[in-house]
Amino acid sequence: MPVRQLPEDLINRIAAGEVVERPASVVKELVENAIDAGANRIIVTTAGGGRTLIRVEDDGIGMDRADLELSVERHATSKLADDGLDDIRTLGFRGEALASIGAVAHLSVSSRPADATSGLRVEVNRSRKSGIVPQAMNRGTIVEVKDLFAGVPARLKFLKSDRAEAAAVADVIKRLAMANPQVHFVLDGADRSPTNWPGDGELASRVMQVMGADFAENAVPLATTRHGVVVSGLAGLPTYSRANSLSQFYFVNGRSVRDKVLLGAVRAAYADFVFRDRFPAIALFVSVDPAAVDVNVHPAKTELRFRDAGGVRSAVIRAVLDALAAAGFRASSTVAEDVLGAFRAPEMDGAGAAPMYTAAPSTGFAGPPPPLHGGGYVQSTGFAGLAEPSARFEAYEAEGSYPLGTARAQMFENFIVAQNGDSLVLIDQHAAHERLVYEKFKAQLASGPVASQMQLIPVVIEMPEEDCGRLEEAAPTLEKLGLYVERFGPRAVAVRETPALLGQADVDGLVKDLADGLAEWDSTEALGDRLDTIIARMACHGSVRSGRVLRIDEMNALLREMERTPHSGQCIHGRPTYVELKKADLERMFGRTR
Ligand code: ADP
Ligand code: MG
Repeated sequence: MPVRQLPEDLINRIAAGEVVERPASVVKELVENAIDAGANRIIVTTAGGGRTLIRVEDDGIGMDRADLELSVERHATSKLADDGLDDIRTLGFRGEALASIGAVAHLSVSSRPADATSGLRVEVNRSRKSGIVPQAMNRGTIVEVKDLFAGVPARLKFLKSDRAEAAAVADVIKRLAMANPQVHFVLDGADRSPTNWPGDGELASRVMQVMGADFAENAVPLATTRHGVVVSGLAGLPTYSRANSLSQFYFVNGRSVRDKVLLGAVRAAYADFVFRDRFPAIALFVSVDPAAVDVNVHPAKTELRFRDAGGVRSAVIRAVLDALAAAGFRASSTVAEDVLGAFRAPEMDGAGAAPMYTAAPSTGFAGPPPPLHGGGYVQSTGFAGLAEPSARFEAYEAEGSYPLGTARAQMFENFIVAQNGDSLVLIDQHAAHERLVYEKFKAQLASGPVASQMQLIPVVIEMPEEDCGRLEEAAPTLEKLGLYVERFGPRAVAVRETPALLGQADVDGLVKDLADGLAEWDSTEALGDRLDTIIARMACHGSVRSGRVLRIDEMNALLREMERTPHSGQCIHGRPTYVELKKADLERMFGRTR
């Protein structure tokens, strides 16, 4: 075939394929235009999931006749004053959204600038532009898109159900609304229940509207500036994690993005607290010099490229870690709700008589009980260094000011029952101690090799040759962590010293577990990057097992230690280390509410 110049409308349809993927992408472009036009209120209406109708009305600056005529042309934009692409402060700039939409739908744009006495309208039907006609309207702009993809069966085929498309539109609105808390958003239509989010300019109010009061209660504020990167927003507590990423919102300079650097940074920051297949909820706002980021990487502008990706990554990780550390021992309030659910009294039966109360089994707890490696193994000296003179506690106890309260009793040789002011606090001593050991490990490692203690007699462990080989190879790294392992014949290793922090560790279990880890991890990968994972595995083995009876002063020592230790609200597997039940919740459980 000979080379030929493509006709204009075909060029537009090809471009539309990049910008306009589905109704939600049309909504995104139109609402971004309204925001760029300085709108205070944006009303979005859809029908048929946006396939039959998308209508976006704003009260922004509007367009005069000349602007209106140009706006639907390809590569027509008011947003690039000169020919530079490296200082972009508006959401749009490519000047192809309206032209692209006009190529694959019936588009009508009506506009009235503030200083005009009436409005004007232009229509585009599959790239054919109408003349400009008068239109009675308020100040601002109304864009209507009808029968999207009607002439593009290839696109129609890929659309999901109306319900799914309507949901995708709502997701786009959520992201834009979060980035613009000063704008009043209304989302309405026959295909959905209406949303009305007045904008008072406060991010906190908008987050409540979009993510729910539940999230706001279980999140901590982010505020860090580093390497010229300003990080703000709200980070969900690890115990409030989700099974998918829909509760993650990322913004760069006010633009909602999906960016690998940010995703990776958040994953890394939560790595210690949240299981790999869970997603922390987060609203993350990053501001950088517009010249330090390239947003022109992808037509939908949801991907970008940071000039200093490393700096951005470390600023985000620092911000999240600082916020979580400040939250310290806090655990999620939804955990208490789960516990309450488990205790709920049975319904009245049909005969009208209440059956005898039987407590539901404790399956309603937020997670499975901590694993009991090594069966009935009882730790004997795990609390070395934790106990403090009990006189000091009595002084504080009188004030009743401890967040985790004062220990009253131990249940099932693992759960500490404590009272603080108006709450009952239940602490999982095994999970809590595991976290404390892990944090101490990290602190020690930060200032040099971890202290070790000699075994009276070297512990000899028999295991397969490959495992022995891997341990031998890893020995120099393990030494830094206070674990001294040497080869002892072809199918055994000898352990001479163990990390002092672990007390009388279950050496056999520890070493076998590490060997499993070494086999699982890519052996070529630098072990140095795995130190945290190795420490986490070690912490499991030195921890106070459930089954250890504690004295009241030992329990209190553990609680005080938790209060002093960052992240102690979750064990290293992301499960809560304690739950709290308000007195009012207890009263509610017993039907005592007034
Ligand atoms: P871009 O946003 O990349 O400039 P668009 O095709 O989305 O390209 O819009 C073209 C132009 O039309 C914009 O630059 C702007 O001047 C004008 N425009 C579009 N929508 C609106 C609106 N809602 N209010 C005011 N002007 C608008
Ligand atoms: Mg635009």
